[in-house]
Amino acid sequence: MLAPSLVARLRTLVGGDGVIDREEALLVYECDGYTLERAVPELVVLPRTPAEVAAVVRLLAEGGIAFVPRGAGTGLSGGTLPVAAPVMVCTSRLQRIESIDVVNRRITVQAGVVNQWVTNAVRAAHLCYAPDPSSQPACTIGGNVAENSGGPHTLKYGVTTNHVLGLELVLPSGEVVTLGGAVEDRPGYDLVGLVVGSEGTFGIVTRATLALVRTPQATRTLLAVFASVDAASEAVSGIIAAGVVPAALEMMDRLIIQAVEAAFRVGLPTDAGAVLLVELDGLAVGLDRQAERVRAVCTGAGAREIRMARDETERAALWKCRKRAFGAIGRLAPNYCTQDGVVPRTRLPDIVRRIAAAAERHQLRIANVFHAGDGNIHPIILYDERDADQVARVLAAGREILEACIALGGSITGEHGIGVEKMAQMPLLFGPDDLAAMVRLRAVFDPEGRANPHKIFPDAKVCVETRAPRRQVAL
Ligand SMILES: Cc1cc2nc3c(=O)[nH]c(=O)nc-3n(C[C@H](O)[C@H](O)[C@H](O)COP(=O)(O)OP(=O)(O)OC[C@H]3O[C@@H](n4cnc5c(N)ncnc54)[C@H](O)[C@@H]3O)c2cc1C
Repeated sequence: MLAPSLVARLRTLVGGDGVIDREEALLVYECDGYTLERAVPELVVLPRTPAEVAAVVRLLAEGGIAFVPRGAGTGLSGGTLPVAAPVMVCTSRLQRIESIDVVNRRITVQAGVVNQWVTNAVRAAHLCYAPDPSSQPACTIGGNVAENSGGPHTLKYGVTTNHVLGLELVLPSGEVVTLGGAVEDRPGYDLVGLVVGSEGTFGIVTRATLALVRTPQATRTLLAVFASVDAASEAVSGIIAAGVVPAALEMMDRLIIQAVEAAFRVGLPTDAGAVLLVELDGLAVGLDRQAERVRAVCTGAGAREIRMARDETERAALWKCRKRAFGAIGRLAPNYCTQDGVVPRTRLPDIVRRIAAAAERHQLRIANVFHAGDGNIHPIILYDERDADQVARVLAAGREILEACIALGGSITGEHGIGVEKMAQMPLLFGPDDLAAMVRLRAVFDPEGRANPHKIFPDAKVCVETRAPRRQVAL
């Protein structure tokens, strides 16, 4: 139980409306997009500036109090679950775009700036921020940095780590450090690279300097319709093997197509086994030739129909389907759990078969939408959380799918992070020495283990008070 005097001092630091301690208001913060496990923090603090974040963290350090950083709460691995950390520090009110340097193509933003706002701010200068998670209208740059987020267009442009030049980080001691800077390839260790993807376990990111890229001169967006996921997967490998690197190469299976079509009515073929959304971008010259190659590969793999968006409106409609696919899932079941794994591209047909087998074994419906070009799969397991047996089957199927990813030469996360969800699977990928080395590295930033404790590493026996369904966070 936090001391009332501490709560009062926090109120002095961030203002009365920056501290949430009412039970019903705290419920908003009981989980992120991974809803299988829930825990309510004792207190949520919402600073408005980087300096306020540092002051809050210094105060928590005085009392040796652990905290959980949080951005918009769209994470999909339970990274914001408050486990053995009574205070949640939200950076969502740090919303200033501090500087834009069009000539050098960079922008400095506070951590709570929403991903989409970055591109909105520089669009007129024909620039954009390339990492585009499907959650981009909501997720924050702080969360993107912590998770090293990807997105449909990261096949060609790379993930968050490839676009972060510098960071300001508030260490768990309250000390503020600046890592990297406005120029690339600085001497010394790549500490920015280390912090990107550290899931809030090194402290709280308050500012980021991001690299911007030129908005492509032209795009071609194609939708290829296949009888099966197998055939579409063959086309994915074929396109890359043909020397074409699309900006995006996304797959949706029948269940997703049907849900999306019911929601948005853009004319997707609901009897198809799978569709591929292929986007090519770059200089206008040569794009049509690339599009022809993509057409040829898809036809060779058995595509029954290939459409090309005729204008920006049609292109936007196709992307709306893909980026809002998760929302459309609400039509299929009361709850869903989005898994995130990676396999080598050529093993996509194998993993899809194993996902189907897991669905059958556990009598569950699993829809698939994935960044196919990266081999990054997102099986969406549908369920009803009021049915405890179903929940147990969801967890078992999720584990089996991740184990299958490892068996096929892949990994347990492509972009959503480990959080609490996948801690138990870490020893399947890493030996005890590797894990111990990572824990030691973490201790350099956070010797007392107060920043987002009990995440990533299966290090403790901690029970979380969860609402139905009940489950232990760390076993
Ligand atoms: C519909 C939907 C679609 C999605 N699509 C994608 C996708 O295409 N690609 C992808 O990669 N992800 C995707 N995600 C997952 C999620 O949006 C990303 O992980 C995103 O980066 C999380 O940002 P957030 O601001 O919501 O962070 P949160 O969920 O609030 O936090 C995520 C993690 O970051 C830490 N954190 C947050 N802010 C900070 C900070 N300032 N300093 C330090 N640590 C911090 C938290 O402690 C937590 O561990 C999707 C999620 C949804 C719901």
